[in-house]
Order: sequence, then structure tokens, then C-alpha cells
Amino acid sequence: MSQFVAAVDQGTTSTRCILFDHSGLPVASYGREHEQIFPKAGWVEHNPTEIWDNTREVVAGALAKADVGESDVAAVGITNQRETTVVWDRATGKPIYNAIVWQDTRTDQICRELGRDGGGEEFTRRTGLPLATYFAGPKARWILDNVDGARRRAENGELAMGTMDTWVLWNATGGSNGGLHLTDVTNASRTLMMDLETLAWDTELCERVGVPTSMLPEIRSSSEVYGEVRAKGVLPGVPIGGILGDQQAATFGQACLDPGMAKNTYGTGNFVLLNTGTEVKRSDNGLLSTVCYKLGTEAAVYALEGAIAVSGSLVQWLRDNLGIIGSAPEVESLARSVDDNGGAYFVPAFSGLFAPHWRSDARGAIVGLTRFVNKGHLARAVLEATAFQTREVIDAMNADSGVALTSLKVDGGMVANELLMQFQADILDVPVIRPVVSETTALGAAYAAGLAVGYWSDTGEVRKNWAQDKQWDPSMPADERDRLYKQWQKAVTRTFDWVDPS
Ligand code: ADP
Repeated sequence: MSQFVAAVDQGTTSTRCILFDHSGLPVASYGREHEQIFPKAGWVEHNPTEIWDNTREVVAGALAKADVGESDVAAVGITNQRETTVVWDRATGKPIYNAIVWQDTRTDQICRELGRDGGGEEFTRRTGLPLATYFAGPKARWILDNVDGARRRAENGELAMGTMDTWVLWNATGGSNGGLHLTDVTNASRTLMMDLETLAWDTELCERVGVPTSMLPEIRSSSEVYGEVRAKGVLPGVPIGGILGDQQAATFGQACLDPGMAKNTYGTGNFVLLNTGTEVKRSDNGLLSTVCYKLGTEAAVYALEGAIAVSGSLVQWLRDNLGIIGSAPEVESLARSVDDNGGAYFVPAFSGLFAPHWRSDARGAIVGLTRFVNKGHLARAVLEATAFQTREVIDAMNADSGVALTSLKVDGGMVANELLMQFQADILDVPVIRPVVSETTALGAAYAAGLAVGYWSDTGEVRKNWAQDKQWDPSMPADERDRLYKQWQKAVTRTFDWVDPS
């Protein structure tokens, strides 16, 4: 048997390849960041060609680090930043525009038009999603509306559309030379164009959004052999056996395989997913209903999701836009230079507010400022913002499910921050648990691929491999927790109605 399974994690800030062994431990990892392109306020783009070049490089880099070749790799899985959308020419393989990233708000007007006359409720009923700029379909529509000749070429069948999983898969399996044009159910469920019950493209919604179905990828399960890698130098001949959107992959990698199990990933944004089993659970409290995973021919498993647009990226903002820290981890020592937030609250509504508010008219605000507040208090307010936003979505989940969460599994870049983890436990009043393998996103994609080729025999092995690293227990008095959270809720209302509809 081959020794390893490879995962390609095409994330928002970087692309990584990680090799995992049979016990689910990483043996080699190689990553590369790509450029964040901000052409205007509210717009965020990536260069898809740069991302594909990076993908090739990181796969080769991980193999070199582990000193192994393709014969040592049983399968490869793909996981990706979700909703980020590319449109490319099938014949040349060239994108016709940069990828429009999930945080981008340029489709605000399109979404508002689609929402007229009860349109919003209809989209939510069929797709499980609120009509928001976050999702992929309207991003493709924007490209077709704004690139010269694109709509005509799309209608002629010359163009293909995909989220980043599809772009990577198409290139890895031959590109313009017979590349596979597929996606998985988890990624398709983020387009506003897939029916959440039938797991097929809803042709009527596609028409409403304005994306010809001929340019859409075929929807497949999250774990099956789609084909083999054909790109030279990138694991040629190795089966590609798994595709999961990054948050679903992290849920799988955290072994949240039973209804009621939840995880929170602290990366660029924060994403809480609660496994709700094989029935779609609708939210009355601002959460999304989404596909969690579908293993081959088994029934799809669904999730309720609380998506928070800005968490770790607020730390980056403190570093890059204000320059008051030199690196992300420095935020912790700066925050520890003071005892509390000094009365300051930072609501990072940079892309509007996602769950549970869904307010595209909101913009960021720092409130509670006095002459007393210094950069230490701001650093604390930055970290606390992540914990408060998480509390908002966990409250929504508890209300939707009728059962209170008893502990929270966490992962992602920010969970290295001890101050944040303790504050999170305090504000939620439940234990917060970090696993040994914090690369749960890549691990989830590796599991999906490894299960498809029999490297792992069943999900029992996934459960068995999960192990706890550290737990933080709540220690804050209840009245203090209530006081802080009330202040936060007041701060949130101060961000509303900032952007005028015109
Ligand atoms: P993504 O997968 O979304 O690219 P990662 O899981 O790699 O994100 O996490 C990176 C994010 O975590 C960055 O936004 C960074 O600012 C933040 N981060 C990294 N280390 C720390 C830390 N010690 N404290 C707070 N934030 C951190």
C-alpha cells in the first residue's frame, strides 16, 4: 500500500500541499501565498493562473520535503476557499477575468435586484442560503455582464465556470486537453444555484441569476475517484478521490460525523459548522443550511453554518493597515499588556456583516473610545471581536437546534492564541478543545480522498485518529460575561445602515 495521502488546500491567503500518513498525522507540508488584489473598496480578487502555478509548486515541494514520489501517494484530495469564482476559456485554459473572492461585495446590486418581489425567500427556500454577495453564482454573472463578449461566448459553450476546486481539478486533469469539469456537492451548495434537497442545479435559479447551465461543472459526491492527475510533475497517475469546501473539510477532519457535533475554524474569517444529519435543517436565526459532505453513493449529510467574514483578517489589518504589530502572533503580547479592553469594541464589518445579521449595509466601527484607550486595548478588542462573533452564531445554533452546545472543537491559524482561546471559553461558557492535528482542513480532504480508494476503510478510522491537544475551561463570572456581551451587542448595532442603497 502507498504510504501517504496528499491534500491540496487552496485557501484564501495561500495554497498548501500536506502529506498525511495512515494515522492522520502530517508528514510534510509546503505552502505558498498568493497576491490579494484590491482594485476598489469592497472588491477582492485573486489571479487564478498564479494559484494554479502555486498548486504545482506546493505539490512538488511537499513531495521533495518528504523525499517521496508519486508511487508513495495513494490518492489526492482537494479542499478550497469556497465561493471564490473563476470563468475561463475552455479552449485556451485562460481565465477571462481574475477570480472574484468570497469577501468581495461588488454583486450587491445584482443581489438586491434578485431579491425583489420575494425573490430572496425563494432563493433561501431552495438553496438554504440568504441572498448575499458572499455566494458564487452572482459573481459569475458579474463577469459575464462586465467582460466584453463574455455572455455571448458563454452561451456558445466556449466558457467554463467554477469555484477554486473546479479550477484546480480541471487543470490537474489535463486543462484544455480534456480536463474534468466537476465540482462536489459542498462547493455547489454555495452558488445560490443548487437545490439543497435534490443536489442538482436548479435550472430556474440559474436562469434568474443569469448563468447559462452549459458553463457549470457537473456535481459529484465529496468522496469518489473523479479521475487521475495528468498534469506533468504533479503526482501524474495518482487518483483524485476527494473534494470538499474548506469548512466542510475541517468539519470532516475534526471528525464531527454525528448530528450535534460542531467545530469552529479561526482563519481569515470564522466558520462554525454543526452536523445536522441527513435531513436539511432550516434556520430561523440567520444561519445557512449547507451540505456538510456526501461520501460516494451514501446519503448527503447536512450542516447548519455560522459564517463570520472577518476574524483573523482583522489581525492582518492591524499588522498591514495600522502597522501596530509586526506579525500576527504579536497581537497576543500586545493584548496582554493591558487587563481588559478598556471599554473599546471593534466590530469588523469590512464586508458588511455575515451570520447571524446578514447586513450588507454595515461597515466596520470601533466604539467606546476615550482618552484612556491605547493600542493594547485595541489589540484586545480585535481578539475579543472574534470570540463575540462566535458567541452570536453559537447562540443562533442553540436556538435553531433547541439543544445547547456542550463543548466546541476549534482549529485554524488563530487557535495558537491562548488569550483568545481562554476568552472564547469564558464568553461561551463551554470548554473549547483543540485537536493534536490543527490542519483539519487539509486532513478532511485527505480523509475524503483516502476513503475513496480504500486507504482508510471507513469513517471509524477517522473517529479513531482524532485526538485532543488542549482544553480551555470557562472561568469568567456570569455577570461579567453578560455585561461584556451586552456591550458588544450594542456596538454591533452601531455599524448598521452605513452604506446607502444608492
Ligand atoms: P486561512 O486558511 O483562512 O488562510 P489560517 O487558518 O492559515 O487562514 O489562519 C491565518 C489567520 O490567522 C490570519 O488571518 C492571521 O492573521 C491569523 N493568526 C495567525 N496566528 C495568529 C495568532 N497567534 N493570533 C491571532 N491571529 C493569528
